[in-house]
Amino acid sequence: MRVETVGDGPAQIAVIGGIHGDEPCGVHAVETLLEAEPDLERAVKFIVANEEAIEADTRYVEEDLNRAFPGDPDGDTHERRLAHRLSQEVADCQILALHSTQSYGGKFALVDRVHEFERRVCPHLSVDAVVETCDFKEGRLFEVSRRLVEVECGYQRSETAAENAVDITREFLAATGALPETVAPTADGGTEERPIYRLTEPMPKAAADAYEVFATNFARVTAGQTYAAADEREYVAEEPFYPILLSAYGYEDVFGYAANRVGTMEM
Ligand SMILES: [Zn+2]
Repeated sequence: MRVETVGDGPAQIAVIGGIHGDEPCGVHAVETLLEAEPDLERAVKFIVANEEAIEADTRYVEEDLNRAFPGDPDGDTHERRLAHRLSQEVADCQILALHSTQSYGGKFALVDRVHEFERRVCPHLSVDAVVETCDFKEGRLFEVSRRLVEVECGYQRSETAAENAVDITREFLAATGALPETVAPTADGGTEERPIYRLTEPMPKAAADAYEVFATNFARVTAGQTYAAADEREYVAEEPFYPILLSAYGYEDVFGYAANRVGTMEM
């Protein structure tokens, strides 16, 4: 793990890239900001988390770091021990964690619930949507701090995701008072409100050789609609829902998550 603190005083803001070793956008953002040597008004910790997985160009070495929090200094796996060290670094911080997906080309934020912190920070971010994770926090960085915004910056390994990660980092630093405020961003499409979704359940997938998904992320699936397949088996929605993080191969045991739309956030 690489940790570089920029600015004076104890850092209460953290930007983390490389929680997943095969998502280079966050590492790019951290390195870009460090090279730019911005004049920060508050101290910020810039962190590249799982250097071993990045080096191996794989999501993780022994287990998914974002399922290993809060971690354990004597844990059995590299990621469990790393999760503990990272937790120690950021426990008192307002945190931005940068990710990318196989499921969606745009930017969206994952938060605990939309409370004061989220209402203050998220309107500064040029994201298409805000997603409340609620009951789906087990092992994730949310176990360490609820003052956390995870941003999915676009498709894994895409140049767009790398550029988006830099923009989101600057916006987050402005939202937390570390950088001067710039022009307020508009969400893609130029709307002044963004939808808030709430995860309700995972969409499990059976072991199979080949997977397909037929639904579009954030587009409502209606009851009776076939949204995915595992080999010959088809998955049909019993009730309407909004798919989030839905992809054929993004996760080992789930297609993604079902969500409800629960409101909007004003910019
Ligand atoms: Zn990730």
